[in-house]
Amino acid sequence: MAALQHSLTVRRLAKHYGPTRAVDDVTLTIGRGQFVTLLGPSGSGKTTILMAIAGFVQPTAGEILLDETPITPLPPEKRNFGMVFQGYALFPHMTVAENVTFPLRVRNVARAEAERRVAEALDLVQLGHLKDRRPSQLSGGQQQRVALARALVFQPALLLLDEPLSALDKKLRAELQVELKALHRRVGLTFIYVTHDQEEALSMSDSIAILRDGKLVQEGPPGTLYERPATRFVADFLGKSNFLAGRIVERRNDGFAYAVDGARFVQHGPPPAGDDVLIALRPEKIGIAAEGEPAPNTVEGTITAWSYFGTSFALIVETAAAGTLQVTVPAWRCPVEPAEGRRVRLAWTADASVPVVRD
Ligand code: ADP
Repeated sequence: MAALQHSLTVRRLAKHYGPTRAVDDVTLTIGRGQFVTLLGPSGSGKTTILMAIAGFVQPTAGEILLDETPITPLPPEKRNFGMVFQGYALFPHMTVAENVTFPLRVRNVARAEAERRVAEALDLVQLGHLKDRRPSQLSGGQQQRVALARALVFQPALLLLDEPLSALDKKLRAELQVELKALHRRVGLTFIYVTHDQEEALSMSDSIAILRDGKLVQEGPPGTLYERPATRFVADFLGKSNFLAGRIVERRNDGFAYAVDGARFVQHGPPPAGDDVLIALRPEKIGIAAEGEPAPNTVEGTITAWSYFGTSFALIVETAAAGTLQVTVPAWRCPVEPAEGRRVRLAWTADASVPVVRD
């Protein structure tokens, strides 16, 4: 399958429905061949952006460009984008092969060429052996792979995916995440993916754009967003986080110290403007330290609740200085037996946490 890579730019895009700003001045560039995910809670404007890219929603303001060409006024069929949705929308009376042939029939592709392309698309999603089945004879995951083959068979300029895995159970979803990422590598097309599932976004994307109330709040590679969330919302939405609200008490070249309820902690990196600071601290970056073990930041507390997840323990620790902290410890090397009422000494390094903007 030819790798036709295109970039897509959304420039100052807005969509208003009466007083609702479904999309509010969003600017975003998706590079050639990238897998970019629009991530945000329900109602944050993800689908509206995707539908505007597809041509089903006419924006109130702004532009959409494929490479450098404005496509905003083009109807969906002129954009030649592949689409995959949550519901598979397969034709129940047609076989797998007939479903995948459908977009080629609409485009009057000659029969021999169509057969060749359908075989190629079915191979791509590893469903060649099931081509004569009907959708009702397939599992949910297989149906979604047929939908993918159907969206790829006409060599679209881009592939748009709106929560395609959300109807599947957790294990199958995880398998299809791996498959989708491999498929993206094989076809080389630009993928634009919509989800509200942060793990899905983290595991598949080259880049994630986080949306809230129609606005783009931060974009970047998954690792950067997870390690360096700019705001409290991003830190909270992408993974879990504790927050420490403090006052800066010392500024140094390599970082700063801040006070929370009389306790003093240190933070690596440049201090934010002003004296107040909000620090995001991931549960897995807090360790349990032995008595007397030196650590840059420590706080004593009492375990008030805990759960076992096989790979890890999740502890809730009530501390005097830092409030209630969530702590995740790998189960195979948890230094204490978790128990309600047990005292623990928590520790973290100066680069384990990150200052964030309150929002
Ligand atoms: P998401 O995909 O992130 O869940 P949507 O893009 O579907 O969010 O919706 C964003 C906001 O716009 C929501 O408040 C939603 O209710 C509103 N909205 C979406 N489509 C319409 C519509 N056709 N008419 C009125 N309001 C809409």
